[in-house]
Amino acid sequence: MLDIDLHSHSNVSDGVLTPAQLVDRAAQRGVKMLALTDHDDVAGLDEARCAAAEKNITFINGVEISVSWRGRTIHILGLNVDPEYQPLYEGLAAIRSGRTQRAQNIAAELEKAGITGSLEGAYAFVGERGLIGRTHFGRFLVEKGYAKDMKSVFKKYLVKGKPGYAHHEWAALSQTIAWITGSGGNAVIAHPARYNLGKNVLNDLLDEFSALGGSAIEVISASHTPQQVEIFAAHAKRRNLLISCGSDFHGPGESFFDLGRLPELPSGCVPVWHDWNAF
Ligand code: AMP
Ligand code: MN
Ligand code: MN
Ligand code: MN
Repeated sequence: MLDIDLHSHSNVSDGVLTPAQLVDRAAQRGVKMLALTDHDDVAGLDEARCAAAEKNITFINGVEISVSWRGRTIHILGLNVDPEYQPLYEGLAAIRSGRTQRAQNIAAELEKAGITGSLEGAYAFVGERGLIGRTHFGRFLVEKGYAKDMKSVFKKYLVKGKPGYAHHEWAALSQTIAWITGSGGNAVIAHPARYNLGKNVLNDLLDEFSALGGSAIEVISASHTPQQVEIFAAHAKRRNLLISCGSDFHGPGESFFDLGRLPELPSGCVPVWHDWNAF
């Protein structure tokens, strides 16, 4: 089992644990190197880094940035970023204010479907930092009995063609990769199988990502079947891209993979951390 996990969320975004609680759980479960990658925010990194130092965990500054590419939403992880790099910091602030606006649009869409009070209801699950996302609406919908769990929320609501969907324009891919690489970090395509891209579109994305200075594909992910791991490992090898691995943990019972339970890396691939000083 891998003791490296480079994709996780705290309650700074849509996870349920505080950054320190997340690090504690990672330590208990044998994680030796951890990245906190909250959506569009770096506010949890200081707390997590302090907690990790006490537990002898190598801590990696991370962020998961929401990107619009050809009308689709994709997620780009920034690993080993400098959270104080101004363009990154300001870019993330702009994305977060877009999230606030989108939440109002989501609530208005749910209202049309007869679901009232969702904005207040979703905000009741939001952390102190105030970042709101579909997960918070999902928790509200489960609490009110509109869906039995998060999986069914994202089948019945909040997605294209279903109640509570609001189109939103996130950051551009080029901009996002520039923020990450400009701050000294590695840009990684998160959970690529989740986007259901056809072969040609996937190849276009990988071409563009590489040309813009992207480093790695997240090959090991809770969103991937063993077969998808092989497919994306082959893409990485063919294109000389590095690979990454992460649970995408959001909270006990809410995620497919818990911290510290990732399968081994596929052979013949170079991990994203191979030239980091810590390793
Ligand atoms: P947002 O960035 O606000 O659009 O929310 C995206 C988040 O929703 C993801 O990071 C996941 O936490 C959650 N999510 C999306 N799809 C699913 C799903 N099928 N099951 C559980 N959670 C999901
Ligand atoms: Mn999430
Ligand atoms: Mn994601
Ligand atoms: Mn994630």
